[in-house]
Amino acid sequence: MIKGIWNMIEVYCGDKNKHKDKDVQLEVVQGVFNGYFYNCPHYKDENRQEGERKCCNRISPVEYEKMIDHISKLLEEADLNCEQINLAGYKWKSKGIQFEIFEHEKDKIKVYMFNPKEVK
Ligand SMILES: [Zn+2]
Repeated sequence: MIKGIWNMIEVYCGDKNKHKDKDVQLEVVQGVFNGYFYNCPHYKDENRQEGERKCCNRISPVEYEKMIDHISKLLEEADLNCEQINLAGYKWKSKGIQFEIFEHEKDKIKVYMFNPKEVK
């Protein structure tokens, strides 16, 4: 695992039908029954504008960690081959969850996440 990678990666809600003009970063929320989730903050009434539909896009910590691991492996592989890579535009799927890296700078990787199972 690349050192500091957890802080490098920022994950944003990938439901672009709901958030057209801005990127909404996921937040960590304690679950009602168990554990915690990375949720789109727009599932809460106070974060939505009048008439805006609720957004239930979210990901479990297990899937979140797998995503970090996936990106870390790509960076490590490039490093072994002495390659400079820019992952912007890179997409993949894990258990039906869609990921897309939309920004890759030296210390920051921004990812869209869309989980069709959670979004209605
Ligand atoms: Zn959202």
